[in-house]
Amino acid sequence: MNNYCIFRNINDCKCCFFKTKNKYCNLHINNANLIYEIINDAIGFRQIKTTNDIYLIFKYIYDTPTIYIKEGIFKKILKSLFIKQWTIKTKYNYITYQNHELFINEIFKLNLNTYKIEKNNDLSFLIKIKNFMNYISIRNHLYKSNITYTNETDPFTFDKFEEIPFKERFIFCEDNNYYCFKACDFKYFIRTNGNWNPYTKKIIEPKVINNLEKFIDYFKINKNNNNNWKTVEQAFTDVSLIIQKIGFYTNMQWFLKLSKIQIRNIIRLFRVISLRNNNNNHEEYFRDLMLLIFDDNNNDNNNEIYYSFARNIIRIFENGDSNFLLCCNFMKSIGVYSNDFYNSLPEWLSDIESPIIINSNSLTQNLVYLINIIEN
Ligand SMILES: [Zn+2]
Repeated sequence: MNNYCIFRNINDCKCCFFKTKNKYCNLHINNANLIYEIINDAIGFRQIKTTNDIYLIFKYIYDTPTIYIKEGIFKKILKSLFIKQWTIKTKYNYITYQNHELFINEIFKLNLNTYKIEKNNDLSFLIKIKNFMNYISIRNHLYKSNITYTNETDPFTFDKFEEIPFKERFIFCEDNNYYCFKACDFKYFIRTNGNWNPYTKKIIEPKVINNLEKFIDYFKINKNNNNNWKTVEQAFTDVSLIIQKIGFYTNMQWFLKLSKIQIRNIIRLFRVISLRNNNNNHEEYFRDLMLLIFDDNNNDNNNEIYYSFARNIIRIFENGDSNFLLCCNFMKSIGVYSNDFYNSLPEWLSDIESPIIINSNSLTQNLVYLINIIEN
């Protein structure tokens, strides 16, 4: 059988790629070494490029009982292949080591620790690492008093910086100008108005928005108080804005017409359709709302039902690009129970696989039918 030569070049760690009937081509026949065989068994002919590739090799060595002196073999692989390259690319950054020996020892330790964590399934440790990595990405956004800021107050609340708790002051740099905003209000602004700087109208880098999320997450400053809504109208205005951004026409008034029963039916249908589409993440939405709705002893929670409905819709649509199928499912579900929505649904929506309109023989159809009978 024709195969490739398993010898690897130094530094770029690519396979030789000469075809050969043996393990090595004629050029590399004298370079035969156990380490190439081990690498080949662990990752095939793939180039060693990322920390993950290195880890796969490490894992293979430690998982294979017939390989002895595991530490020595792993270090020998690093020593033989990474001769000039002392920098390693991780998911978060590049780490450069001062010398070759340090590089090898540190990479070995990193892999050994990763392996131990994976074997012991030590999640708490992983969470600590994740938090630490989050801290690295947010530290540039922490308030520093020695910086001159372009704005003097928070543009959303008009609070002076010193009136804002330290951990809520989110700073970022645009064209060498620094801005300091209240983190949660900034997030709310982006969600409802778009990702631009209210002072310059310039688009904010996705990385900054990403870090803003991490910042809020890290300091646990996410507000749960109904997004500052004082009325249901405000809540559904936000909902309409965010739905329209994804490309569906809606009107705040249509939401106000929905009854508690209709909302319950919409959610149920949404869940049934999403289940059919194998959308495993659909379950994380409306869970709290279902509990509220089934709490029949509490008749005062009508407004809370609307707020919760609004919050959940926003959660689905604010990640509309990655949740697009869920957004479509939601619009279809709401269209089934409200003529206002039904009449404004775009025609292309029926091209997105839909058990209500297209599928005539599925279990889902029966379920939808049953739900309709039971609920009305
Ligand atoms: Zn070769």
